[in-house]
Amino acid sequence: MKAILFYNHGGPEVLEYADFPEPQPGPGEVLVRLEAAALNRLDLWVRTGWPGIKLDYPHIPGADGAGRVEALGAGVSHWQVGDRVVINSNLSCGQCPACLAGKDNQCRDWRLLGETIRGTYAELVCVPAGNLYPLPADFDVHTAAAAALVYHTAWHSLITRGNLRPGESVLIVGASGGVNTASIQIARLVGASVYVVGSSLEKLALAEKMGAHYLIDRSKEENWAKTVYTLTGKRGVDVVVDNVGTTFPLSFRAAAKGGRILTVGNSGGPKFEIDNRFIFGKHLSLLGSTMGSKTDFAAVMELVLTGKLSVARDRVYPLSQARQAQERLESGAQFGKITLAIGT
Ligand code: ZN
Repeated sequence: MKAILFYNHGGPEVLEYADFPEPQPGPGEVLVRLEAAALNRLDLWVRTGWPGIKLDYPHIPGADGAGRVEALGAGVSHWQVGDRVVINSNLSCGQCPACLAGKDNQCRDWRLLGETIRGTYAELVCVPAGNLYPLPADFDVHTAAAAALVYHTAWHSLITRGNLRPGESVLIVGASGGVNTASIQIARLVGASVYVVGSSLEKLALAEKMGAHYLIDRSKEENWAKTVYTLTGKRGVDVVVDNVGTTFPLSFRAAAKGGRILTVGNSGGPKFEIDNRFIFGKHLSLLGSTMGSKTDFAAVMELVLTGKLSVARDRVYPLSQARQAQERLESGAQFGKITLAIGT
């Protein structure tokens, strides 16, 4: 099969479009012929590497994908060859206490497609049968692939961890990342008031299109916590979605008493100083999570597939141009999700 491979960490130039042996589905697995894969910032981090990351080279990037069932491993009975599917990239053992409690993203043997094992920048991929979700006949594979990881992550954080309720106020720090864009839509659907702080008017325009009520341009309002405070009548917001990390000091200020700070990432860097007085003095809860459970995936994909959540999409590149696609993601010029067309 054709796939995007890399043999060592580095810039986009390490990505090679080449032949790779076809994977074979083991017991309980399904072989999927991919038609679309979506890029995530994670793909860039895996490519550049971090201390302690161990990949089985050559590595194939990509967590998100959608396509058709190509073949079934032993014991798989509820899928048929030809079924249209979207992939949940969170792999879990299914047997440990966390899995049995429905918290499979806390599995002791948790793995992520494209990070700890070979992923979806390929014509074929094998996944456990329980990691597929059916796609309606007329639903676009690119939109499905683009939604999967970011909507799954945002749903788990906002709804399962954050318990966001109608009438609450939410501040989202960052206007254009995939998870943030998904968070805007989910918060809006729940019936929350949505505040977004973004780096430019252009990025904020996308946030507004996705449903944000209040837009704050941080290039003009450096102390955006103060702006949020003013906009909320000196109360602050109930929930802050902060996947930057280094912005926590401002997020703590922007939160109302009893507020929740939700985080699923550290795009600003992993280490920073926090002032603990805000946490106890304002009764704040800091809720971290990564990805989501199978229950979360089913819940959020149902909303995507029925059009209640709409996915912001950027350009489509052929699989052979994954390098150019990653360069665009790295440049930050995209508005919405970048996807790869596979086998067309
Ligand atoms: Zn488990």
